[in-house]
Amino acid sequence: MTLRVHNTATRSLQDFEPLEPGTVRVYGCGPTIYNHAHIGNFRTFLFFDLVHRYLAWSGYNVRFVMNLTDVDDKVIASAVESGMTVTEKTEPFAVVFLEDSRTLGIRPVESYPRATDYIQKMVDFVQRLVDGGHAYPADDGAVYFSIASFAEYGKLKGIDTTTLKVGARVSHDEYDKEDARDFALWKAATPEDEQVGAAWDSPWGRGRPGWHLECSVMSTSELGDSLDMHLGGEDLVFPHHENEIAQSEAATGRPFVRNWMHVKHLFVEGRKMSKSFGNFITLRELLDEGHDPAAIRHLLISSHYRGDLNFTRQGLEASGAALQRLLDFESRLKEIVTDDAAASSGLPEAASQALESFRAAMDNDFNSADALAVVFVFVNTVNAALDEHGTVAESDRDAALDALHSMDAVLALLEVANASRALDDDQVAYVEQKIQERTAARANKDFATSDAIRDELAGKGVVLEDGPDGTRWKVVS
Ligand SMILES: [Zn+2]
Repeated sequence: MTLRVHNTATRSLQDFEPLEPGTVRVYGCGPTIYNHAHIGNFRTFLFFDLVHRYLAWSGYNVRFVMNLTDVDDKVIASAVESGMTVTEKTEPFAVVFLEDSRTLGIRPVESYPRATDYIQKMVDFVQRLVDGGHAYPADDGAVYFSIASFAEYGKLKGIDTTTLKVGARVSHDEYDKEDARDFALWKAATPEDEQVGAAWDSPWGRGRPGWHLECSVMSTSELGDSLDMHLGGEDLVFPHHENEIAQSEAATGRPFVRNWMHVKHLFVEGRKMSKSFGNFITLRELLDEGHDPAAIRHLLISSHYRGDLNFTRQGLEASGAALQRLLDFESRLKEIVTDDAAASSGLPEAASQALESFRAAMDNDFNSADALAVVFVFVNTVNAALDEHGTVAESDRDAALDALHSMDAVLALLEVANASRALDDDQVAYVEQKIQERTAARANKDFATSDAIRDELAGKGVVLEDGPDGTRWKVVS
């Protein structure tokens, strides 16, 4: 089996082969850090994480870089409104974003370049394009990319550039689809730019980079002229990624990206997310409401990244239930009494079958929906075998547990669930002290106190189970 990935540029699945054997260079367009990322953004960033984890799981050395956009039209407008510099505006959101990413189990990547740290490289890059005849300074103080100078412009989106008006320009970072016009690489500084610390010296006067330029410069600076994969939300295909291709290939003369991969928009409660429909949800809001990060992760990876996904509160409940099945299964395997004289249970065969199917699902364009189905079929198969056999050999149990944890190294559901349920030393000491008090109360037939302690711990998510060996506890949420 080889990994096959869908390439937006060819609109087809292709066998994946990295430029340098064994190493994969991936760039993901990260968030613009002037507000809290919404859950649609996190659908995209969780897909980045699946790619990152699965490539590593498959044995590749993964070089994954994701930028944090800390200067563009939106950041500046928001800094002006808050009376802050762009750095004051963005740094707190960078911290929150990285914290939230960790909470969701998104593995740290190799680097998180900020645009403002690459200004000189951006100036040099624009100069290269000017020198090569691909860009020109205009009378408005900006430097524009000449799309007439790049015959392949439009190849990613598949737009017809024969109707474009030569010399027609657009200076905004975001503009209408199919509007193929020369775009700004470098913009002249306005008084607002100066006010928020978003203006730098250049051969064309004071100014700042355009958003599209930022990603071309950061990706090629960090990873080289040619990347194996470039990822982003589907809204970035045009103009952002189209422009990145034009700038990068015009500057380096080399193919920029071998596989373009785009994540479909998330729907929330049946609609595209929007503040006016009241269905705009940030991850922070869900976490503050006490939702389980592992359930959020499950829901956001439960559909293939190019397929539809509708986020609903009901769906989140169902994901919580699925997660609990997985946690119960893990506990059952860990706690089962093994007997090496037990008859063959079929668990090692079920484990290798599951791993093979899991790999096939993920090799098929990172199909996490199918991969999750494989995990739950495995849970059912093993549960049925345990019901039937009662006891199994330790090596059989270990084979099942290893397969579960191997698949979880990619999906990270148990990893996130167990991390968010872990108690610190003081909390563990508290729970154990309360259990001792409760045992003493029960011995004295003081059931009111015993029940009160049980309820108090339940309120903290700690569930008690009384058995012949005493009282055991576990954290359920
Ligand atoms: Zn980008």
